[in-house]
Amino acid sequence: MSRCTVCSLKDDHPGVVLDDQQVCNLCNFDFAEDLLVNYRYTSEVFAEFQQAPPADGEFDCLFMYSGGKDSTYMLDKFVNEYGKRVLAYTFDVPFESVHAAQNISLAQEKIPATFLLDADDDNIKLMMREVFNRPAPKPGRYLDEKLPCVSCRTFFVLRAILNAYERKIPYIALCADPQQILTMESNVREIVRGFYETFGERLTGTLFGERLEDLLFEDDEDLPKIVFPFIAMRHDYDPDHIVAELQAKGLYESSPLETHCTLFPLLNYYSFKNWDCMFYKLNASSHVRSVRRNGDQARNTFSIKFPRALDLAPVEDQLGEVVMAIAAGEGSREEHEKTLIDVFQRMDATEDAARFVAQSFLDMRSVADDLGIRLS
Ligand SMILES: [Zn+2]
Repeated sequence: MSRCTVCSLKDDHPGVVLDDQQVCNLCNFDFAEDLLVNYRYTSEVFAEFQQAPPADGEFDCLFMYSGGKDSTYMLDKFVNEYGKRVLAYTFDVPFESVHAAQNISLAQEKIPATFLLDADDDNIKLMMREVFNRPAPKPGRYLDEKLPCVSCRTFFVLRAILNAYERKIPYIALCADPQQILTMESNVREIVRGFYETFGERLTGTLFGERLEDLLFEDDEDLPKIVFPFIAMRHDYDPDHIVAELQAKGLYESSPLETHCTLFPLLNYYSFKNWDCMFYKLNASSHVRSVRRNGDQARNTFSIKFPRALDLAPVEDQLGEVVMAIAAGEGSREEHEKTLIDVFQRMDATEDAARFVAQSFLDMRSVADDLGIRLS
């Protein structure tokens, strides 16, 4: 196994190839062209949406509202500044530590939109069990180490798509941050096709009934279009500014332990087990790459923060060892806790935060048990 000399990605990372100088295709910008095409398309669709006259039906767009800072900020803009008629759609993800329903009440008081809360615990858990328990697809493709996370998001995006389609809402707004936008499929038919490809007809039928199949054969103009509002802010996206503006409007109560995914330790288990890397490897590598490139210039890495000087390889190796030991039920809890706190602090977590995250890793086996996920 060898690592990219710039960003530390391994040569067996899905979608990654090293050249004879030991530099990976991401550092060599092989992806640049694909990414630009995606940027152009999403920018055009967003411009079209902004100029669109009011839709024929009750709503101009279905807005995917998570209750987090990004989507609260944008929902306020859509309704109170742009004057859009919005169906604010929230999917209650059962893996989130704080459920969405508790977060949206502030927004409901101050933003005149129609709010819709959706949930489907049984099916999303069934899908997750399948993702974790079956063998990972080999050879892998770009982002395959994040398959459980990507699948969860795709699941509720599909439910939102079905909702918009059935109510004849022409646009769906999705508040991915600028870095996420680059790696997300924005064409509705392709999202549906991709899900069928990943999960097959039978499981997809179990999860969504036959309604989804109609979308594969629907005319383009009758399919909703996905817009990424943050595409317009890609050069000056600033999470701290967003939080400050929301707090000034009384739309946000920040908490150091913000809503987070209770599957995070298992996501790491999945990526270490199948691809020998930590879950946030691409993000961390991208950070290391940009620090190397930009020298002293500070750079915004969007929603995840890493320390300027991150010694990625040893941090990743240590995290991998402890995650696999916990999964196998080996070693002592005290030792694991010490190691985890040390690793997270080296990734710039405060001691409290490191302690909190370490705890969730120590409880990984019981979370897996509850969901029916087999750890090997
Ligand atoms: Zn690289």
